[in-house]
Amino acid sequence: MSDCVFCGIVSGEIDADVVAEAEDWIAFRDLRPQAPVHVLVVPREHVPTLNDLSPDHDALVGRLVRAGASVAASEGIADEGWRLVVNCNAGAGQTVFHVHAHVLGGRPLGWPPG
Ligand code: 5GP
Ligand code: ZN
Repeated sequence: MSDCVFCGIVSGEIDADVVAEAEDWIAFRDLRPQAPVHVLVVPREHVPTLNDLSPDHDALVGRLVRAGASVAASEGIADEGWRLVVNCNAGAGQTVFHVHAHVLGGRPLGWPPG
């Protein structure tokens, strides 16, 4: 998708502070962090929202979740507590329509979320 910022990061056209990557995902720091640790785990494939996932994506989704846990460990927040968040559609706060999971931590995280 030529007008998608995360596809731009995946292709290398847009700079990002990459912390980890694998064959089918990339993890980089959020431009406007909402916590001391705020990393986005992004599939290289352009899928707009969670609503667009198919059974073909099941293994990818599993790897994305485990990538989040791996990032939490490498960022040093695995034991204290961290959160994996996926916003789906505008009403839930999604602003970039390329599926991504936020890894958040490094401060107390309130519940329920806003
Ligand atoms: P959403 O609101 O869709 O769940 O999350 C999108 C996230 O992407 C936001 O937290 C926003 O700060 C981040 N973001 C938007 N554009 C860029 C960018 O160009 N680079 C990086 N690293 N993060 C971005
Ligand atoms: Zn995209």
